[in-house]
Amino acid sequence: ILDDYLRRTPTSAQWSQRARKSMPDGVTVDTRVFNPYSLYVAHASGVHKTDVDGNVLLDFFGGHGAMVLGHCHPRVTAAVTEAMARGVQYAACHPLEVGWAERITRHIPGAAKVRFTGSGTESTMLAMRLARARTGRECIVRVATHYHGWHDFATSGYNAQFDGSPAPGVLGEVAAKTLLVPPNDIAALEQVFAQHGADIAGVIVEPLGSHFGLVPIADAYLQRCAELARANGALFILDEVVSGFRIAPGGIQSLLGLRPDLTCLGKAATGGMPGGAVAGSEDVMGMLQSSSPRKVLHQGTFTGNPVTAAAAIAAIDEIVEKDVCTHINALGDYARESLNDMFDRKGVRWLAYGRYSGLHLMPGLPPRGSDPFAITRGEVAKPTAELAAALRMGLILEGVDIGGRGTVFLAWPHQREHVDQLVAAMDRVLDRLGMD
Ligand code: PMP
Repeated sequence: ILDDYLRRTPTSAQWSQRARKSMPDGVTVDTRVFNPYSLYVAHASGVHKTDVDGNVLLDFFGGHGAMVLGHCHPRVTAAVTEAMARGVQYAACHPLEVGWAERITRHIPGAAKVRFTGSGTESTMLAMRLARARTGRECIVRVATHYHGWHDFATSGYNAQFDGSPAPGVLGEVAAKTLLVPPNDIAALEQVFAQHGADIAGVIVEPLGSHFGLVPIADAYLQRCAELARANGALFILDEVVSGFRIAPGGIQSLLGLRPDLTCLGKAATGGMPGGAVAGSEDVMGMLQSSSPRKVLHQGTFTGNPVTAAAAIAAIDEIVEKDVCTHINALGDYARESLNDMFDRKGVRWLAYGRYSGLHLMPGLPPRGSDPFAITRGEVAKPTAELAAALRMGLILEGVDIGGRGTVFLAWPHQREHVDQLVAAMDRVLDRLGMD
């Protein structure tokens, strides 16, 4: 497989060699480290990406989940092009940010008010700051293994392996204010509130489970987070950076009847352009008003950027008008079923699991039908790091790109035939890797 990869991607190899001279590991984002080197993409359109050697890949990575409408969606591209021509940075208020804000408050149930940020990471950072300011408390309860971006308050308790050890460069004082609880363990959650309730400013959760649902989270767990936060005078922060405008326009809160105090948004909510948003109740978002006695600071040169706002408006309108979430969620079901049928047919111990429009390809897991919420981090992550890389390389050679760790995202232009291609490619890769 490696020889094949080297033979098919010589121009990527050259770019990588050059990149290593100016960037650590030759990449700008840790997750792009791939041995022997990552592919360099020249352009993308719809559900296809073309690398610098002219290899065309059917894309299931979906821009880290941001490209719900696929690449270069005509409506989004037109909106961005028009906005670009009017200037990209006014250092002033502009109509597009108002239109964007109105759409978020219309669709996200917990959003009475909204403020924009530069990324999903900034969204969770601002949400945690708001929770601390509103409650006058310092601790944030966070679910171990959940990813909320890479700022200090989201990174403490993790290193690059997310194994709970101290993160280099993050103050011990910051880590001490983060209370990590295991996923789906309601008793542990209750215990942390019983012990530290008076110090807890908020509890933050990824509603699909960590890393796009790699460790799925039960709906009942989410409900309990909300209840315990409320009962203890803490805020419930829902990180809908992935799920917002992907699983439903109103995120998981619209499906489960949750009313988080704060909602973090990014990815699909920005039309795939850089940016993010924090939305919340009048009360909590009021902390950002200049009249608030404990006014919370919020800045950012690129916050509410007009080009991002234009993309976001076009994407949100398209997602709502075309009922995009229903299509991609149904395709997610079809993909899980087709993959698991294929695994059964081959008699291999693999599982495609997940919810809505994302899924994970996992080796050596309990058979289908077993409770996905019982899957622990240990069971999932340890056997898969190298294997996921081998799987990804094998699939690239079959003309299919998936996310690291075996993540698959569906997008609006995907059809069943694309899923069938993924299944056939996976079938051949399993043979090639000699996997059982
Ligand atoms: N929260 C969640 C749930 C995410 O998945 C991510 C990104 N993968 C973030 C926050 C951070 O967003 P960004 O990469 O835009 O900083």
